[in-house]
Amino acid sequence: MSGTSLSLKERIIAESQRIGINKIGFASAEPFIELEEKLEKQQEVGHHSGFEHPNIKERIYPELIFDQPCSIISIALAYPTKMTNVPERVKGQRRGQFARASWGTDYHDILREKMDRLIAYIKEEAQEEVTFKPMVDTGELIDVAVAQRAGLGFIGKNGLLITEEFGSYVYLGEIITNLAFAADEPVPNGCGDCTRCITGCPTDALLGDGRMNAKRCLSFQTQTKGMMPLEYRKKMGHIIYGCDICQMVCPYNKGKDFHFHEEMEPIPEDVAPLLQPLLSISNKEFKQRFGVMAGSWRGKKPIQRNAIIALANYRDKTALPELLRCIAEDPRPVIRGTAAWAVGQIASQEDDEIVSFLIEAFQKESDEEAQLEFQQAITKLKA
Ligand code: SF4
Ligand code: SF4
Repeated sequence: MSGTSLSLKERIIAESQRIGINKIGFASAEPFIELEEKLEKQQEVGHHSGFEHPNIKERIYPELIFDQPCSIISIALAYPTKMTNVPERVKGQRRGQFARASWGTDYHDILREKMDRLIAYIKEEAQEEVTFKPMVDTGELIDVAVAQRAGLGFIGKNGLLITEEFGSYVYLGEIITNLAFAADEPVPNGCGDCTRCITGCPTDALLGDGRMNAKRCLSFQTQTKGMMPLEYRKKMGHIIYGCDICQMVCPYNKGKDFHFHEEMEPIPEDVAPLLQPLLSISNKEFKQRFGVMAGSWRGKKPIQRNAIIALANYRDKTALPELLRCIAEDPRPVIRGTAAWAVGQIASQEDDEIVSFLIEAFQKESDEEAQLEFQQAITKLKA
């Protein structure tokens, strides 16, 4: 077929492949009315994370955020799930783990670059005045809902978009436009009787029908800045950002590992970093090492808090001096309090020296939440 006989949609699909977009689909820009009640209910019962776009109407009605929307182009980029150079295991050197969606360069940047290139192409090809609004997960629209409508895959019971080719290991982005395209067919749900993600979730965050209580999700909890609620600390294991469990257990993800995009390749020393050095990392070094990753968007404090929890979960006694230093010197109550909890988990009960240290530190502590952590650690070690 000659190039001129192809429709604009066909030419866009061909161009998307040249750009390195792994999957593309086209949907109508009709309101997502079917989600309105669900989102309102979610907010009402407090199951939202608070990181979502706050205006529900704008998430449902494309016409509120775009002048005369006709179509939405949905794109997916597949990301790697296995490291090629896993850091060597050295006895006593404990490492944390960033979830896979944080490997490599921040996916927001990668998606934006691909979408900008696609938009530039469409602008050149279209015979009329065209307008666009690209967005990734911080935008108004719900990525998975758009992708499902555009036929990229179905939304599983884990709430994620599952594609046939790449499983759920895809980053999603979408472009609203005033151009009209023939819509693609949505894919029917393929979960069947499977409940692996629901039973595999360590915090019971998944409600069973694709909805979740985002506040119970470790992916959300590892991104908060305050004290980590006690019930999640042990469940975090050694993760310091995000959670991959409901993806790892999904049969659609079995054997899926794609290395299409150089910039998504993880730096093993950074996505599985040694934990102890993280506790004293400077702002500058943190930015240099982790600044490019999606997992650094909340700054270094949540990562350091999570690293302390991971050290506690390893019961790493060699971390005690560094944890005591945090208690004595760190200016942030969340770090002092979490370190006190970790010392309570790791230290031996008969260690009078550590108990005396904690009592002295407790007497100097002015933050109420941290004080509570000190008290609990002292009580545990004296029991
Ligand atoms: Fe549960 Fe982890 Fe999935 Fe969140 S990301 S729903 S905590 S398994
Ligand atoms: Fe669906 Fe099973 Fe995958 Fe969950 S683990 S999303 S239930 S197929």
